[in-house]
Amino acid sequence: MTGRTHDLAAVTALGIVVWVDPPQTLTLGTALIAILANQIGGILPDIDQPTAPLWKNLPVGKYIGKSVDTLMGGHRFISHSLVGVAIFGSLALALLNFLHPIMPHTNIYLVWWAFIVGLLSHLILDSLTKEGVPWLLPLKTKFGFPNKSFRITTGKAVETLVFFPLILLFDIWFCISHYQFILNFIHQRIT
Ligand SMILES: [Zn+2]
Repeated sequence: MTGRTHDLAAVTALGIVVWVDPPQTLTLGTALIAILANQIGGILPDIDQPTAPLWKNLPVGKYIGKSVDTLMGGHRFISHSLVGVAIFGSLALALLNFLHPIMPHTNIYLVWWAFIVGLLSHLILDSLTKEGVPWLLPLKTKFGFPNKSFRITTGKAVETLVFFPLILLFDIWFCISHYQFILNFIHQRIT
């Protein structure tokens, strides 16, 4: 999937998780940092791709990207598995604990969960593509759903003209049909 689809899917997944299990209270800072962490989680697995937007935007990113690609075992390998989720999750938690003293009003666990939701949304979305995802590394089998012939090819018309608009339509429907919930959440739970 492209970065744009992953961004949208990550925030969509976060919205669903918040709706299913809304946090009791959170500060505005926590909410904003959580959305940022969610977006980072949503595209992070693709750092194993030298052409990833992150590397493209850095001055020597192309070379760093190639090194990371080798380190990660190639595209759709460690970073696209549950082992990768555990590694990224541990590193993110360590980083958030380190940063907590300079952002004391931030609930780092909510931020961390938003990051994990982003990561998992990436893996689920890539499982819908023909290539699949090696969820259970070191088992190298790539899993995907549904049947391979019904899966999407990254960057092709079905993704950009059908799949992406479908997620967008879902988001619009979700916001309209859960308008009162969103309003109450913002008014009553964000402090
Ligand atoms: Zn990916």
